Amino acid sequence: MDAMTDEIATLRGRYAGGAAYLDGEFMPLAEAKIPVTHWGYRRSDVTYDVVGVRDGRFFRLDDHIRRFRNSMTALHMEPPEGDAEIRDILMKLVLMADVRDAYVSMECLRASPAPGALRHPASCRSYLSCSAVPWISVVSPEMEVRGMHLMIPKVKRIPPSSFDPRVKNFHWGDLTEGMFEAKEAGADFAVLTDETGNVTEGPGFNVFCIVNGRVITPARGGLDGITRLSVFELCEELGLPLEIRDVTVEEFVNADEIFACTTAGGIMPATRIDGRILGNDVPGPISMQLKETFWQKRAEGWHGTEVL
Ligand code: PLP
Repeated sequence: MDAMTDEIATLRGRYAGGAAYLDGEFMPLAEAKIPVTHWGYRRSDVTYDVVGVRDGRFFRLDDHIRRFRNSMTALHMEPPEGDAEIRDILMKLVLMADVRDAYVSMECLRASPAPGALRHPASCRSYLSCSAVPWISVVSPEMEVRGMHLMIPKVKRIPPSSFDPRVKNFHWGDLTEGMFEAKEAGADFAVLTDETGNVTEGPGFNVFCIVNGRVITPARGGLDGITRLSVFELCEELGLPLEIRDVTVEEFVNADEIFACTTAGGIMPATRIDGRILGNDVPGPISMQLKETFWQKRAEGWHGTEVL
């Protein structure tokens, strides 16, 4: 056993179930705490990314790290760790947590200005907080079978001209309000529109609709999801016509099929939207073909990186 494996084997007992890396140090997740004075907390001045591990394999690890770096750069954040180091940290966290199926997050937070320094974000250093915990899914086992029930809330998505939604962020005021509107309406999740009535995304997922066999997703107003990117590739492989363009709420709610997609859930067919029943209240055939192909290819190692 080499030194690294030895170290990880010793740590596993303490870190099982949740391992963290915070501001340069590894620790059990329960010990990972940030100062309440930090702007990452006080101003939601933080960006993050989440990558999934299934069956001991990361999915599109380098794509997630690349998006994370782009988000940090957009927010003028530069933690001490480079991309290769972040990759090693995430690998090590999954090994320490000792889980084959993991939800692995990376965050970069702004600290607070040193005493006496100008109270400006440029005066703050930024640092990483990463963790690996057992897999979390946004879809309940019941939703997996019956499909998601969606609704269009009154609250609008924050406009991209105010904050670029491609920078993964915790400015979830609109998405959180949408979740409450969905609960009130008896739905599982909300899909937010923008001020012009075009569909954007939901709390933690991108959306697609299918009209006359064409697979359509909003071009703007949401995150450039990595699962969404995977759907693009699947459409190409399966010969399904793909359209990336504005999608009006009318087109969306009247579509033949709808599905959402995210790291923490994969491809998630919907069976209801604003009370309207799609198909026969069962997940649609094209959505199911995409969902099944997605998981089958993942099981075969598609875009996978072994946790070693
Ligand atoms: N949109 C939002 C707002 C999200 O938070 C997420 C993921 O957390 C997504 C979309 C889906 O992105 P990905 O497929 O990269 O997980």
